[in-house]
Amino acid sequence: AEFPAQPTAIVTGAASPRGIGRATAHRLARDGWAVAVVDLGQDASEAVAREVAEQHGVPTLGLGVDITDRDAAFAAVERVDRELPQLVGLVNNAGVSSPVPFLEVTPEEWRRVFEVNVHGTFHMTQAAAAVMASHHLGRIVNVSSVSAERGGGVYGRAAYSGAKAALLGIARTLARELGPHGITANSVAPGSIDTDIMGGTLSEARKAELVSDLLVGRIGTVDDVAAVINFLLSREGGYVTGATYDVNGGLHIA
Ligand code: NAD
Repeated sequence: AEFPAQPTAIVTGAASPRGIGRATAHRLARDGWAVAVVDLGQDASEAVAREVAEQHGVPTLGLGVDITDRDAAFAAVERVDRELPQLVGLVNNAGVSSPVPFLEVTPEEWRRVFEVNVHGTFHMTQAAAAVMASHHLGRIVNVSSVSAERGGGVYGRAAYSGAKAALLGIARTLARELGPHGITANSVAPGSIDTDIMGGTLSEARKAELVSDLLVGRIGTVDDVAAVINFLLSREGGYVTGATYDVNGGLHIA
């Protein structure tokens, strides 16, 4: 199907001030996308939506949604479908990390991590993919993590790594199953990106230590990740599907 002049993307977890989601919302809007900002807080989501609209002159919507709530996720997608231009993109960026070692992790903590990262993504994707399929056009990106590929590390332990690995398999399956409906599905696997996901626990000393392992000689930025997501959502990105894009400064071969 024809790529619309002004497509809409939903970015989950996009209200975090220094986060990957907010940077992605701005990057997409810069290329003319209308953007729905989905995050836990209504006010924070609206504030980012307003800021994106003002800076880029695109239609936006800010929605306070807990994506673990299936009904809320479906209602959010329905509103986006009603109030913004044709829904083409979904960025499953909302996520929580967990530093708890495996021998100490409680079932509650384990479930919390899977609820947001995996089940939240399931809800948003099932709702959005139905709309995309009806137009025979869609772009889905799951934000996974290097943690999924390497088995934890900087940010997470088994629950986080397992949840992020699930997103890789899910994206590949969606690529296979939804390809005939004109939908691509891919993942990005960021390495160490300077955000607040660890609640500011990433000290300057720890950052320097991480950088010494990288080929690029610096820690990643939210814009590094947003650029790749933007490509995968773009019209030009349409022949890429079922792929995982590493955005990690060369960590795997360093
Ligand atoms: P962040 O904590 O700044 O942003 C995550 C956002 O998700 C927050 O705004 C939070 O409110 C939102 N969120 C959490 N639970 C939610 C729920 N139930 N419903 C709706 N929104 C919810 O983190 P970030 O570093 O920008 O991370 C974005 C994504 O990138 C996450 O999935 C994370 O796991 C992944 N990631 C981050 C890094 C990194 O180094 N920062 C590395 C690899 C992967």
